[in-house]
Amino acid sequence: MLKNALLSIEGLTVHYGAAQALFGIDLTVAQGETVALVGANGAGKSSLLKAVMGLAPPSGGRIFLDGREVTGASPSEMASLGVALVPEGREMFGDLTVRENLELGALAVNAGRRTVAERLEAVFARFPKLKERLSQRTCTLSGGEQQMTAIGRALMAKPRLLLMDEPSLGLAPLIADEIFDIIHQLSRSGVTILLVEQNAARGLTASSSAYLLANGRIVGSGKSDKLLVDPELRRAFLGAASADNPAASRLGAAGLTNIRLDKPEMSKLTFMPSFKTVEELREHQLKGLQWTVRHAYEGSSFYREHLDQAGVRPEDIKTLDDLKKLPFTSPEDLKDQYPFPFRAVPYEQIVRLHASSGTTGKRKILCYTQKDIDDWAHFFARCYEMAGVTPLDRVQIAVGYGLWTAGVGFQLGVERLGALAVPVGPGNLDLQCEFFVDLQPTVFCCTASMGLLMAEEIHKRGIADKINIRKIIYGSERSSVSMRKKISELFGGVELFDIVGMTELYGPGTGIECPDHDCIHYWADYYILEILDPETMEPVPDYEWGEMVVTTLAKEAAPLIRYRTHDLTRIIPGPCTCGSLLPRHSRIAGRTDDMFKFRGVNIFPSGIDRLLSEVPGLGSEYQVHLTRDEAGRDHMLLKVERGEGVEPGRADELGREVRYLIKHKLMVTPEVDVVAYGELPRSERKSKRVFDTRITDSVV
Ligand code: ZN
Repeated sequence: MLKNALLSIEGLTVHYGAAQALFGIDLTVAQGETVALVGANGAGKSSLLKAVMGLAPPSGGRIFLDGREVTGASPSEMASLGVALVPEGREMFGDLTVRENLELGALAVNAGRRTVAERLEAVFARFPKLKERLSQRTCTLSGGEQQMTAIGRALMAKPRLLLMDEPSLGLAPLIADEIFDIIHQLSRSGVTILLVEQNAARGLTASSSAYLLANGRIVGSGKSDKLLVDPELRRAFLGAASADNPAASRLGAAGLTNIRLDKPEMSKLTFMPSFKTVEELREHQLKGLQWTVRHAYEGSSFYREHLDQAGVRPEDIKTLDDLKKLPFTSPEDLKDQYPFPFRAVPYEQIVRLHASSGTTGKRKILCYTQKDIDDWAHFFARCYEMAGVTPLDRVQIAVGYGLWTAGVGFQLGVERLGALAVPVGPGNLDLQCEFFVDLQPTVFCCTASMGLLMAEEIHKRGIADKINIRKIIYGSERSSVSMRKKISELFGGVELFDIVGMTELYGPGTGIECPDHDCIHYWADYYILEILDPETMEPVPDYEWGEMVVTTLAKEAAPLIRYRTHDLTRIIPGPCTCGSLLPRHSRIAGRTDDMFKFRGVNIFPSGIDRLLSEVPGLGSEYQVHLTRDEAGRDHMLLKVERGEGVEPGRADELGREVRYLIKHKLMVTPEVDVVAYGELPRSERKSKRVFDTRITDSVV
């Protein structure tokens, strides 16, 4: 025990029931010193403070204050001995005023009226802002002011030892700076401080010495300025890897890996929306819709004309149902407005353009304000969060960069999340494989076909056991179940996540498959999704397939109002097993262009696809032939292959089953012809499935 030690801890252990939080902690805080306790979330920092304050009784070890043993003393005994705690999250009495809260601090030490008045003045001298807020209820203060009140309340006891638990938690960087300035001042004025901090850089710069805590144990200690530049620690803090084992320190290493010197406290960061009920979401959506319609009307001549023609004005949007009053927009409108379609802000507010590939006609160019980019980064980070990607992951991005929205979107999200991005771009299989082995990325972002290509390449090169990919996030193309299975297997059992998005709607990242893998959760706080019958433009019931129509809620540069995407999907109602409140749709099943109409029923080839895959004994190839007889009646002939090795004798039975399924699920009755395996033509590109020879009346 040091001679001038104010606080001295020897072999301290703390248990919560059977769980052990601290393992034999030795720690000393000298009189007048500021000591930082640095460690990741869950390292045991708060348990240590609570043990000192008497809030968590130690299960072993001893605590001394000024040489006197205080192990197991109650919180009020500790307070009367001059120890004050500024708890995490401030734990203020929100209904009390600032004055009442401050006076409570003095109550703990039974200070007289005059002393209380003097100490109040001393607190105001340090926090002039609090004097202005004196009779305000604490819950109405900003986060920074609440933290000041919390510190002020502790100072009212005129403590000899101030215990501070995560004082900058949840504060904006500038406010956190201000709080740390105050900690410096307190430190210089001779207050002894034990400071718990998750942000290693802040903790170390604010203290003279520090202890590093991981998994309830002290794993390092010393002078803070030395620790700050220690290469070993920096490496551990930054989570970088050693040369011979690149994955190890990033993913393991004593729990120290998620402390970052230069990044915010990622472990507590979430990108999920804050709403708790569907009603709250709808309220948010209505505000967004009202804002969007007004913004589009006032900022864009196209929208003003379009809305005027439809006889709708911004003030007509009073409920979410009023969405129906709004006219549709389409990819054709977008092309007509080339090169700045739907622009609703002055040019000087536009900071970026993206464009889709122009296979037919003009490219679709979309512009973005800085806020649009920020929003995009935010909900892209949410995609990663939903897929379970963390700041510890390394994400190799193998989609296109440049005018295309994909690469930069994936990149923005990784950076916002605080993970490490490896921006390789598409193709370049040699480099992809080299980095798989050398950099040990844990997440791979690609298109479905690139995923398959890489999977086969890994298999060919026999490197599956040398790589560390755990998750694949793929988008921009449809993928079959068998394709997903093959990718997952060849990659050594990775988890696949389908991510959705389109250039018009920011880019990729507007929704993602959840960990329960049976749906796409979409970001309903950023856009409203309608599923409409592409012929009648009337809503279809939940579970029924239709065209996805989107209306943005916060997009500035190029807002979308009831934009027809021509993508086919369906709403999956009700809560998801994964627990997320965010609404869901199915994977994109195709384009409305693929749809055909038969006897008044809209039919999508993907729907037939799905039904056929339910019948064991059938192959994957089929053709739909549509004809019209002389009486004007339409007929559908469905040619389906038998599966490989399935006996010809089963054809009748298979045919009956297909007919029954289609009749019951699609409400139309086809003729079914089950043909031999390999009889229908194959194509490397998309096979032609629908042959429609019905005579259509020419338009005169
Ligand atoms: Zn889910």
